[in-house]
Amino acid sequence: MHTGRMPTPVLLGLPYDGSSSFLRGPAEAPAAVRRVLHSGAGNWSTERGVDLGPAGARWRDLADLDVPDDPAAALAAIRSAAADLDGSTVGVGGDHFVTYPLVEALAGRHPELTILHVDAHPDLYDELDGDRLSHACPLARIMEAGHARRLVQFGIRTLTPHQREQAERFGVEIHTAAAWDGTLPPLTGDVYVTIDVDGIDPAFAPGVSHHEPGGLTSRQVIGLIHQLADVPDARLVGADVVEINPRRDHHDMTATLGAKLAKELLGVLVEQA
Ligand code: MN
Ligand code: MN
Repeated sequence: MHTGRMPTPVLLGLPYDGSSSFLRGPAEAPAAVRRVLHSGAGNWSTERGVDLGPAGARWRDLADLDVPDDPAAALAAIRSAAADLDGSTVGVGGDHFVTYPLVEALAGRHPELTILHVDAHPDLYDELDGDRLSHACPLARIMEAGHARRLVQFGIRTLTPHQREQAERFGVEIHTAAAWDGTLPPLTGDVYVTIDVDGIDPAFAPGVSHHEPGGLTSRQVIGLIHQLADVPDARLVGADVVEINPRRDHHDMTATLGAKLAKELLGVLVEQA
């Protein structure tokens, strides 16, 4: 399956919050995360020992995509930009809507995709307030289109009866915040990781639109990325970090967590390249 050298991994900002149901602000996250990355407060080495940079040699920063505020136009713009990239992408949202076009762009190349999804919310609503492109719906759109073979969720703590039905319909494997022991289930093949930062407890990540106490720790989510990197028969093919809302953040705590997660994800892609 792995034939020769993989293209250089890329970081792509997706400043879009037109599908947010409660608060605007995630469109400002790519700039906040990049400010942290380039602030000089940290270094460019990942915990697994990959020296990332700065951007240039082992990964590229493609800056921010110009995303229209209209959801249908945003869908087309993100999908077409992502389909044109030949390198594995770490997308920095943006609200969680952006995962739908990012995965859709990959689906042709990776038909047997497994998605690992960190979130307080399952994002499986068929529609929210009549909106099928709401940030509460992307995983429903992905699963009903058959873009992933398997969806595994971590940190969930807001299941409604409707979303339980949807999870059953799509065969979603849910590791709730209450029950997850921090370990990855057995995995093989191509894997996409989507991290909604509100899956992590608001004590660690206050800068999100929807505070949902009782969440995961930063360490558990970093650990998930590292465990994935050690699975011999699985390969990370793309990722995103979404739902950071800088308008709610304190001293860039959440933007800094987003930058850290993006770094660790990029590091795994660089290890694989
Ligand atoms: Mn969420
Ligand atoms: Mn979400």
